[in-house]
Amino acid sequence: MESEESSKMELSLKCPICGSNLQLIENSTYVMLGCPKCKRYTRMTKKHIFKTYIEYENNSVHLKWTELIKELYTRIATKYYLESGTP
Ligand SMILES: [Zn+2]
Repeated sequence: MESEESSKMELSLKCPICGSNLQLIENSTYVMLGCPKCKRYTRMTKKHIFKTYIEYENNSVHLKWTELIKELYTRIATKYYLESGTP
């Protein structure tokens, strides 16, 4: 029996360090963005995503996908810069 399902998706965004395509991984609790080569990921809880990036319009639910990806990308880029110590 599988306890946790996760799905992976390759994005066209590039890793700021090695230039590989970044990967988006999703499971029941988190969404993670990161580089499979550098093995560094940043993650966000789905709870937070639902609170922040979901819009309700009339009777439909709309995910602010671009803003979500932008935020995750900013986080991972910042993380890399902090770790590498480059000014
Ligand atoms: Zn990388």
